[in-house]
Amino acid sequence: LTGAEVVVSVGRGISKDVEKGIKLAEELAAEFNGAVIGGSRAAIDSGWLSADHQVGQTGKTVHPKLYVALGISGAIQHKAGMQDSECIIAVNKAEGAPIFDVADYGICGDLFKVVPLMIDAIKAAKAAK
Ligand SMILES: Cc1cc2nc3c(=O)[nH]c(=O)nc-3n(C[C@H](O)[C@H](O)[C@H](O)COP(=O)(O)OP(=O)(O)OC[C@H]3O[C@@H](n4cnc5c(N)ncnc54)[C@H](O)[C@@H]3O)c2cc1C
Repeated sequence: LTGAEVVVSVGRGISKDVEKGIKLAEELAAEFNGAVIGGSRAAIDSGWLSADHQVGQTGKTVHPKLYVALGISGAIQHKAGMQDSECIIAVNKAEGAPIFDVADYGICGDLFKVVPLMIDAIKAAKAAK
């Protein structure tokens, strides 16, 4: 996780359908070669991911080229572990989520709708090359 060029992290925002949320994160990560899955402490404490995936003050500090935060609010303890990433994309359904304060690109919406569109857009961009 610490040396990854791309990290796709999930938070409590996947709780509506955890299995699908993780699958979407993995599908998105697969579009970036060598991307690694991370998570907020909420995702680890809920048992959705093992502890070695935790990003933040009591987890790993990462500075990838790209950090994608899916359904993560952006608590100070999470930001401590990822805010030095080169580029941050955040998807959150709450307009006022603090994660948007550190995001280079913020998408306000339901991750279960947004992430499939992101995957399609990346696939289309690759196909157009
Ligand atoms: C001493 C201490 C150390 C800590 N260390 C860490 C640490 O190392 N790492 C860490 O991450 N946290 C750490 N925490 C916990 C931290 O304070 C937060 O509680 C935690 O980061 C919250 O995780 P979250 O963002 O996944 O959950 P939440 O804060 O519950 O946020 C979930 C977000 O998902 C959004 N959402 C919900 N549904 C959807 C949807 N369908 N689509 C899009 N968005 C959606 C919501 O709007 C919300 O913003 C620590 C806390 C303490 C006190």
